[in-house]
Formats: sequence, structure tokens, C-alpha cells
Amino acid sequence: MQPFDLKTPKTLDEAIAELPQERSRTAPQVIAGGQDILTVMKDDIAAPSALVEIGGLDLGGIETAADGSLQMGALVTIQEIADDGRIAERFPALADAAKSIASPQIRSHATIGGNLNQKPRCPYYRHSAVSCFKKGGNVCLAEFGFNKYAAILGGGPSYFSHPSDMATALMLYGAVVTAQGPRGVREIALSNYYLLPDMALDRESVLESDEIITKITVPAPRAGLRSTYMKFKERASYDFALGAVAVSLMLDGNTIQEASVVLGGVAPTPWPSPEAAQALIGKEMGPNAWNEAGEAAMAEAVPLEHNGYKVHLMKGVLYRALEQLA
Ligand SMILES: Cc1cc2nc3c(=O)[nH]c(=O)nc-3n(C[C@H](O)[C@H](O)[C@H](O)COP(=O)(O)OP(=O)(O)OC[C@H]3O[C@@H](n4cnc5c(N)ncnc54)[C@H](O)[C@@H]3O)c2cc1C
Repeated sequence: MQPFDLKTPKTLDEAIAELPQERSRTAPQVIAGGQDILTVMKDDIAAPSALVEIGGLDLGGIETAADGSLQMGALVTIQEIADDGRIAERFPALADAAKSIASPQIRSHATIGGNLNQKPRCPYYRHSAVSCFKKGGNVCLAEFGFNKYAAILGGGPSYFSHPSDMATALMLYGAVVTAQGPRGVREIALSNYYLLPDMALDRESVLESDEIITKITVPAPRAGLRSTYMKFKERASYDFALGAVAVSLMLDGNTIQEASVVLGGVAPTPWPSPEAAQALIGKEMGPNAWNEAGEAAMAEAVPLEHNGYKVHLMKGVLYRALEQLA
């Protein structure tokens, strides 16, 4: 790891003033819980000249607003989300996603703002001796190499899969990110937040290098909405998703009136599947509808040499999630 300055601003404005207008390998970056940025630096993916430590800013707290929306400060930890009874009751997919992440020790440091902005886990990208599209190189080694963990949807020219469980669950609920920078405050729907590799290779989101996420807002769920998050990991202990689904349904008796499906771990961004939702709407809850949803969700999948298993896995994970909502 290269030497760096540690900036400890006392206010949000001071923190923003320390951030660069242009992103680069050596440009200053935000550090929150440090669970990802420090490994990124150790892996020599970035060598920021300074880290801007935002842990001392007033960006914590989980609140229910007057309109029933959930408001989470960017520094809220994943463990706080996992422990919050209000979230478990109203946004079960969010609580389940939080509980599925890492270990209690890591969750107690990892913040929601950092989780949404963590870097991909592709082993080639994370290897200090390897250059790839995302590090300014001219190849994606995962495309024809070890691609067990790579994307089967939305990949190319780079094939990493998105790592954040929280992003998948938050997208299901229509969450909005509030970001502040020198040009002011802006609200970004999470559905518009992430960028595919064919849109940008040096970044994964629309967040500018001089912006800080201050809070995440999740609209109040409608009465009767059922939702869940289901994740398949390679290891029984902590691990990133090989495949995950966040699903919500509105039922009229046993008939599916409305459905929403977001897939995780299979694309470079959380991957909404309107196809799976359409396959469910108007159907009776039961194995036929659940199987059809899986087929629809995977209809456009293009597996690489070693990740065809994800197609079968995702059909199974979606089936089980829907079964859980019955
Ligand atoms: C062993 C291990 C297992 C893990 N397993 C999982 C898993 O299963 N699922 C999962 O989703 N995650 C997993 N993670 C990832 C972990 O959840 C994230 O690394 C963590 O949430 C990042 O939060 P942080 O506060 O530590 O971010 P940091 O490491 O401090 O920052 C991460 C990135 O976000 C940026 N950033 C942080 N806060 C802000 C902000 N407010 N505004 C703008 N930019 C910001 C930083 O500049 C940096 O680029 C795992 C991590 C480890 C180490």
C-alpha cells in the first residue's frame, strides 16, 4: 500500500472540498468503514494520495419520516440495519440482505454508503499483477478465463458481477440515494445509479468523484406487500452471492396482482427482471407460475464457459423465494 494523507473533516462541506473533480488512480477518496477501500488499496487497484474520513460527520441514524418512508444516513452500519425491528417488519428483504453479509464484526464497521459503492470482487480485477479493462487495460480476462463468478446478464466488455446485497434489496423497494457535492444536492433513484461496463469502465455508478452520499430513502411499502431476499452462497459462512433474488408481490387471494423481481450476483449491476415479474402477474401462486418466472428471468442469460450453473441456480433461488412468499 502506498503512503497517503488522512483528512478528518469536521463538516460535510469540508469533506467535499477535499474531494477531486476528476477521478484517477491517485485522486483522494472517501473512507467510511474502510472494509473495502483498504483492500482496494492493498490490492493496488487505487493508490489515493489522501483518504477523506467521513466517520466523524453527522450521517448516521435510521428514521421513519412522516410520509412513512425509511431514511437511513449513509454511515448507518449493515449491522444496525440487520438489528432494526422496524426494517425487519416493513422491509424484510432489506433485513435479510443485511443479515446475509459478511460477519458480525465486518457488518459492525461496514456502512450502507460504502456497501453501495464497493468495488467488484472479480479475482482478476482484484489481482495486483493483472491489468484489465477496468484498470485501463485492453482485455477482460474473465471472459475467456476463470469466469465461475462472472456475469451472465449485461456483461461485456467487462464481465464482473455486482457485489452488493443491499443494492439488490434496496432497488426492489425503489430506494433513492441523496448525494451532495460542490454543485449541490441531488437525488438519484437507485434504478438509475449503476452503470453497465459498456457505459463506463472506470466507475460503476453515476456518483461523481467529488460527491458524498448523505442518505438513502426507501418509500413506504404499500399495505399487503410481501417481500423477501434469498441468496445462494458457495460457503455456509460469509460469502458474496453466487446468485440472489429480491422479490415482492401483491396478492388478491391466491392470484398475483403485482410483482417485482431484482436479481443479484449475475450482472455487473443489480438486475431488475420485468420479464420475471410479467410472467407472474395474473397467475395463481404455485409451482407453475414460479417455474415460468425462472424461465423468463433467465431467457436472455448468456453464460460464459464456467458459469452456466448460474442459470439453473437462479431459477431455483427464485422458485424458493416465491415459495416463501406463498
Ligand atoms: C470478508 C468480507 C465479506 C463480505 N461479504 C459481503 C457480502 O456478502 N455482501 C455484500 O454486499 N458485501 C459484502 N462485503 C462488502 C462489505 O459489505 C463492504 O466492503 C462494506 O459495506 C463497505 O462499507 P465501508 O463503510 O467499509 O466502505 P469503505 O471501504 O469505507 O468505502 C467503500 C467505497 O465506498 C466509498 N464510500 C463510502 N461511503 C461513501 C459515501 N457516503 N459517499 C460516497 N462514497 C462512499 C468509498 O470511497 C469507497 O470507494 C464483504 C466484505 C468483506 C471484507
